[in-house]
Amino acid sequence: MSETITNWAGNITYSARELHRPHSLDGVAALVADSARVRVLGSGHSFNEIAEPGPEGVLLSIAGLPPVTDVDSAARTVRVAGGVRYAELARAVASHGLALPNMASLPHISVAGSVATGTHGSGVGNGPLASAVREVELVTADGSALTIGRDDPRFGGAVTSLGALGVVTALTLDLVPSFDVEQYVFTELPLAGLDLAAFGTVMSTAYSVSLFTDWRAPGFRQVWVKRRTDQPLADFPWAAPATEKMHPVPGMPAVNCTEQFGVPGPWHDRLPHFRAEFTPSSGAELQSEYLLPREHAVEALHAVDGIRETVAGVLQICEVRTVAADGQWLSPSHGRDTVALHFTWIEDTAAVLPVVRRLEEALAPFDARPHWGKVFTTPAGVLRELYPRLGDFRKLARELDPGAKFANAFVTDVLAD
Ligand SMILES: Cc1cc2nc3c(=O)[nH]c(=O)nc-3n(C[C@H](O)[C@H](O)[C@H](O)COP(=O)(O)OP(=O)(O)OC[C@H]3O[C@@H](n4cnc5c(N)ncnc54)[C@H](O)[C@@H]3O)c2cc1C
Repeated sequence: MSETITNWAGNITYSARELHRPHSLDGVAALVADSARVRVLGSGHSFNEIAEPGPEGVLLSIAGLPPVTDVDSAARTVRVAGGVRYAELARAVASHGLALPNMASLPHISVAGSVATGTHGSGVGNGPLASAVREVELVTADGSALTIGRDDPRFGGAVTSLGALGVVTALTLDLVPSFDVEQYVFTELPLAGLDLAAFGTVMSTAYSVSLFTDWRAPGFRQVWVKRRTDQPLADFPWAAPATEKMHPVPGMPAVNCTEQFGVPGPWHDRLPHFRAEFTPSSGAELQSEYLLPREHAVEALHAVDGIRETVAGVLQICEVRTVAADGQWLSPSHGRDTVALHFTWIEDTAAVLPVVRRLEEALAPFDARPHWGKVFTTPAGVLRELYPRLGDFRKLARELDPGAKFANAFVTDVLAD
């Protein structure tokens, strides 16, 4: 049976005419062993060809495997099937009085797909979602199972792996005791006068802070502050409290957004911007994101401000977040405390791409690493320079997948010698 398979945004149509959905681990292993080329599709929320299997390649979904979410309360860990989405994982974890340290803006993304691309939330002390992973279970190229844990020297390549090492069938994640969060929204934070120290203070006000702007004027239209109720309540004198519930994108209905005005609620109902029970938008958008050393945050914001009109012409919203440094070799926040500049564009690829190129030129002096799952045009040669442990990852990929069964054009380009 032939089907048309696209990503969530609809800007990518995969060349595979069938999405294979095995219902057992044996089924996954047999399919992998019998295929020459394989890529796994998670929940399809990436915006580029990272999951494209290429001609003759098999596209595999593990969403049909049992949705394991085994919480070990004593060890404070959860073993989760790779295809499970964060909303479902969060419900299981919360029912044991435990929590994930952080979440991305959208809870509908799969766990294995998210950590494979370095997906993150915000927070000066919060690493990307991959930093909670302590063990990865893979089906490798010959169909055999392999578990790589934190004490394994290969672990640095095993989590944020771009899907290049094998099928991630399950992961074990660290948990923390449950916590409640209050979310506050403030409006109109000027860019003028925001020096690096002030930027650091603003972003450190609470557990997770995001700035939003449409770049139609300098500065930020909204600031979202997510405060843990077990941490001190800091004043926020830099902007005025919102007087109505807000959606980050001007004109969009706020009903889909998580609770605001400081109403306390469990971590999983406040850390994402969008409520798990709502589909946040139709997918009529493209996204790009650049992660750069936090010490360049203010210079980089001024560089974007310098091309503000160009950016604003195709932009729905820009979000500024912080991510703590982590150790995954291919993580965009590898080895450096990071500021992440995210852009939700209109869905017009032809109009957006020239602006993406212009933005990349503006951010190049700051060693900006593009988000692996979003739209970017940074040449592979430049990317390779930005990842000091890329050679180690290349070696690991060759060790686990000598025939490059899990490589596609995207990965081959990045890993080229
Ligand atoms: C509305 C929206 C909001 C978003 N918000 C954020 C955000 O807040 N922060 C952020 O950092 N990013 C965000 N993203 C980006 C998103 O988190 C990433 O694109 C992420 O990779 C999506 O996970 P997925 O399961 O859909 O992955 P896919 O797009 O399905 O796959 C991504 C990669 O993972 C691989 N992969 C997937 N599953 C497996 C597996 N089981 N085994 C091996 N490889 C696998 C694929 O082969 C591919 O290489 C957002 C995207 C959207 C659409």
